[in-house]
Amino acid sequence: MKELESMYEDLGVSRAVYAYGEKILEDLKPRFAGIDRNAEYNQAKVLHAMQENRVDATCFAATTGYGYDDLGRDKLEKVYAATFHTEAALVRPQITCGTHALAVALSANLLPGDELLSPVGAPYDTLEEVIGIRESKCSLKEYGVSYRQVDLLPDGNFDYDGIRAAITEKTKLITIQRSKGYATRPSFSVQKIGELIAFCKSVKPGVTCMVDNCYGEFVETIEPSDLGADMIVGSLIKNPGGGLAPIGGYICGTKECVERCSYRLSAPGLGQEVGANLGLLPSLYQGFFLAPTVVSGALKGAIFAANVYERLGFRVVPNGSESRHDIIQAVELGSAERMLAFCKGIQAAAPVDSYVTPVPWAMPGYDSEVVMAAGAFVQGSSIELSADGPIRPPYAVYFQGGLTWYHAKLGILMSLQKLVEQGLVAL
Ligand SMILES: *Cc1c(COP(=O)(O)O)cnc(C)c1O
Repeated sequence: MKELESMYEDLGVSRAVYAYGEKILEDLKPRFAGIDRNAEYNQAKVLHAMQENRVDATCFAATTGYGYDDLGRDKLEKVYAATFHTEAALVRPQITCGTHALAVALSANLLPGDELLSPVGAPYDTLEEVIGIRESKCSLKEYGVSYRQVDLLPDGNFDYDGIRAAITEKTKLITIQRSKGYATRPSFSVQKIGELIAFCKSVKPGVTCMVDNCYGEFVETIEPSDLGADMIVGSLIKNPGGGLAPIGGYICGTKECVERCSYRLSAPGLGQEVGANLGLLPSLYQGFFLAPTVVSGALKGAIFAANVYERLGFRVVPNGSESRHDIIQAVELGSAERMLAFCKGIQAAAPVDSYVTPVPWAMPGYDSEVVMAAGAFVQGSSIELSADGPIRPPYAVYFQGGLTWYHAKLGILMSLQKLVEQGLVAL
């Protein structure tokens, strides 16, 4: 039998790069054990929700047309609600992506004259057009919903005084983004989000608090819905789809908020009663079942990447030893050249499309060119190993995903390999 080092050599990783990685991994063992414990806890949570709701083979049947009386679809929503401890859930393949889920949640729960507040600085790029920060047809702004934002303090903390002052009679909904997205601010712990929600509700009881939960699901053992969020929203081609869901989004929350979302998604009066599952339920159920484990592999990959690149002298967010609140790892590479080499390595490590070279491209919803490396089974899935970033200072690559820890590890080693080969870093 060949030794492991030469298996990696066959994949294109030199012995020097492999050895560099192994040295770093030695120190990460205790942290990885902690991640495994979280995954075990979350697995129990999902299993309990499935058992409690008596999931059985009838749940996997395909429906077409209107999708009336789709028991499998309705039960999947109960499973999500039970897992995230919410009154209700909307989990649908008809929700095309995370941005769509967020747009539904916002437009369903804001009316003309209402104001939306982000107390955590600028939202994710694609939401700028949803809100109307960048002019767009059908934005909330066009429908008479105003927007206000309170930036984080320079140290990354919430500006509580600014937030208090920004909450007015008009403030109807407060949106809190858990993950940093394409920013180099910290991602927030669920605990910290809970404190912010409590503060906002103390200033204005009854204000609706929504959390953009993208990339955060199952990273911790609690979710924002455990600490007062009225809605948590995310994409099924990120964490909760476990890599198997081929499309979809979810909104979990109070009965009132979710019902409004269902009316916005389909039509007033129809709501959750319509929406055929088109045979996708087996992968939605099984993906949710696998999600805690998949997220743990992605987290290990993120922590490994942080430690590899931190030791090479790059700024990494979060840093190599910080606690984790999402699966994203930002690495500030300082040049477009290094971003491209990094992404080339991630691409070369993929099971699908490993032979293609990523090039920067203008993407809908983003205001600068973006480079993306992804060799995924599900197109654009970012719970699968992927790296991307807008080509603009500080030339940060955002690394995420990996359906297995071993694949994430290979991806990071390959990214380093490409940088070393091109003389852009020295070990
Ligand atoms: C990915 C993401 C979104 C948008 O999701 P898409 O599926 O890409 O539309 C929104 N917010 C955050 C924080 C995200 O990470």
